This record gives sequence, structure tokens and C-alpha cells, in this order.
Amino acid sequence: MNKTFHSDASGKKSSVAANPSPCPLAKKCGGCQLQNMSYPQQLRWKQGKVERLLGKFHSVEPILGMEYPYHYRNKVQAAFGLDRNRRIVSGVYQSSTHRIVSVDSCMIEDRKADEIIVSIRRILPLLRIQPFDERTGQGLLRHVLVKRGFASGQIMVVLVTASPILPSKNRFVELLREKHPEITTILQNINPGFTSMVLGEHEKVLYGPGYIEDTLCGCVFRISAKSFYQINPLQTEVLYSKALEMAQLNGTERVIDAYCGIGTIGMIAARQAGRVLGVELNRDAVRDAIANAKRNRISNIYFHCADAGEFMEEMAAEGETADVVLMDPPRAGSDLAFLSSLVKLAPQKVVYISCNPETQARDLTYLTQKGYQVCAIQPVDMFPHTNHTECCVLLIRQNRSHNFSRPGR
Ligand code: SAH
Repeated sequence: MNKTFHSDASGKKSSVAANPSPCPLAKKCGGCQLQNMSYPQQLRWKQGKVERLLGKFHSVEPILGMEYPYHYRNKVQAAFGLDRNRRIVSGVYQSSTHRIVSVDSCMIEDRKADEIIVSIRRILPLLRIQPFDERTGQGLLRHVLVKRGFASGQIMVVLVTASPILPSKNRFVELLREKHPEITTILQNINPGFTSMVLGEHEKVLYGPGYIEDTLCGCVFRISAKSFYQINPLQTEVLYSKALEMAQLNGTERVIDAYCGIGTIGMIAARQAGRVLGVELNRDAVRDAIANAKRNRISNIYFHCADAGEFMEEMAAEGETADVVLMDPPRAGSDLAFLSSLVKLAPQKVVYISCNPETQARDLTYLTQKGYQVCAIQPVDMFPHTNHTECCVLLIRQNRSHNFSRPGR
């Protein structure tokens, strides 16, 4: 095994196993930016990044890493195309190009998902289906997306095609299920556009229910092709447990789950809260969230399909209040509309989960200037080997009676 020696903080030489399986495609793919570091080094790198960006607000708890930081990605996407010799390739786009780097297996992706994608590559010539060629606009199959429920083992395969007609589709389904009987649903998604988005608007279910289910923190979640679901379920449980530990709910609070996706955090929180309102922009995710609440018989959660900023502004304008806001925005962080209405709503606690400590630092600067104090910072390693850093922050409102007047009160 590959070993590197480096000095630890005390200056002593220590031996730390370097990544035992460095990836041969590392440079071309560019997905695992930290893979030359051993896992403990990666954790130190992320800890340092969070301390640099957020340390001015509060001390930072030690990052929570994974015991086995491989093959954790339960959602795998592969682009399909032809190489120079007109052989079918599937994999990832070479960094900043549209050339496909062929991938058979990847150290962070689910093994079964990778096997299924290789099988599809082999099935295509048998059915005379061509991958889509971006330059000529010819061919059919653009991408394959595989999602696997970590606890349930259910597997969804999505064939993304440039046009609606998929010749021999029944035979395709038959061949794929013969090879992988563990697949529980197969969909065709149609993406005719000249776009870098993987999925198009329309989809057809070719086999099974059209969605998969998975269990997270004791709740069952329905996941469809387009809805967001955390890609590392083991660490998601670690993250959500921390978030709820920070929220310290006592069964009576009015909670907002902003940017709620399919309702995961909100539903887990609902078991310990008075009432939860989830807000999310993606219509499919909201549909899944409503179905999830029914499926888990949770009756104290409500979902709204809206821009989180606009929703919060309306709530503030109507004089509504909240005790706790759980927020988990995309990489860009929150907008000013959201943050200013958050301050108007004046919840006692805000638990801010972020996958981008840079935008989180910007948003924390705003909130701390408007009367909130950062009381805990907990990084969690959701994406080993990549430079992505997830962090959960607790904010508590200060001087409740002096600085704020609640609208409508
Ligand atoms: N909390 C969820 C999802 C977090 S990802 C989970 O952990 O699973 C961020 C989510 O924010 C995505 O589902 C995305 O669709 C949604 N989103 C992005 N911009 C938004 C906006 N302006 N208003 C509401 N939701 C938004």
C-alpha cells in the first residue's frame, strides 16, 4: 500500500496511509480534487478551510468524517458518446471540455450503479441504439442516471434521450433487468435541448413505479428522477442528527424548513416539533415531500412550492412567526430577500446547513450584524476526496425584546 510520511502538529514524523486506491482518471475527471491526500489529511484540509472562513464567528468543532470514505455516492450520472474510433463511451466530461472520459468504476460512486452503466454501454449495440452526438445532433442516448436507496437497496435507472422514440424499449428493459434483477424502476427522460442540464422536462416510466424509496433517520422517503436527495446517506444521518441536536426542539415549536427538497430534515424535525412548514422551489420535490409526509403519517408538516425568499417575505408581511428556521440553501447561499425576511420573522434559533462555507460566511456576516450570534459550528464530511465542505451552524437571536419588533404584533 502507498504510504506517505509527514509531520504532525507536534513536529513528529507519523505515517499516514495515502489514498490506497488513487484513481487513474484523476486529472482528466477532476471530480476528486483532494484524492492525493490521505483521508486524515483531507479532513484536516477541510477543517482548516472552515476555520479560515467561519472561525471569526465561533470556534469550530472537529469535522465528522467517514469510517470508510469510498463508494458513498448513491446517485451516479454518466454521459454517453462516441470516441474517435466511433466506439461507445460513457463516463464524465473531461474538466472544462465536452470530451467524455470513459469510466468503468469510480472510487466514490456506488459500485452497482457503475456496473449498470457499463451494462447499458454493452446493450446499446445489440439494439442498434446510438449515443447522442452533440456536434451533429444525431443519435439518441445522452446520459444515464442511476439512483440507489442505501437502506432499501432499490435502484432507479433513467435513460436520458434526445428524442421521445426509444426503439426496442421493451427489449432494452428486458435485457437490463435480466442482467440486473435488482433494478426496481426504469424511466426514460427526454432532453431535446442544447443544454448542459442532464434531465429534460418530460419523462416516461418504462418499468416499475417511477420512483425509489429510502429510509433516513427512521423516515421513509420517496425519491423521483428529478428531485434532490443527499448523495451520501450515511453522512446525511450524521449531519441531520447534529442539526436537530442544535435545534433542541421540545415538541411545541413552529419550525420552517427552508429549501426543504423532498422534506427530509423537516420530517425528521416534525417528530420533535409543534408544526413544520417546508418551502421548496422544485415542483417534483414538493410533490415527493407531500407523499413522504403521508407515507410516514406525519400530520404536522405542510409544504409550499415557492421561492424561499418570497415565501419568507410574505410570512413576515402577514405577521407570521417562527421559533426555529432550518435552512439548507444551494451553493449560492441565500438571497437578501430571504435573509432580511428571516430577520423580520425573528426566530429564536436558526440552524444553517451549507455545502459552501464561502457563501455561508457571507450570510453569517449579515445575520450576525442583524442581532444573531453564532453559537456552534460543526463541519461534516459529506463528500470525501472532493473539496466540497459541508457545515452546520447554530445561530441564536440576541436581545429579543430590544432589537426587534415583530410585524403584526
Ligand atoms: N434540505 C434538502 C435539500 C437541500 S438542497 C435536503 O437536505 O435534502 C437545496 C434545495 O433548495 C434544492 O432542493 C433546490 O431545489 C432548492 N432551492 C433552490 N433555490 C431555491 C429557492 N430560491 N427557493 C426555494 N428552494 C430552492
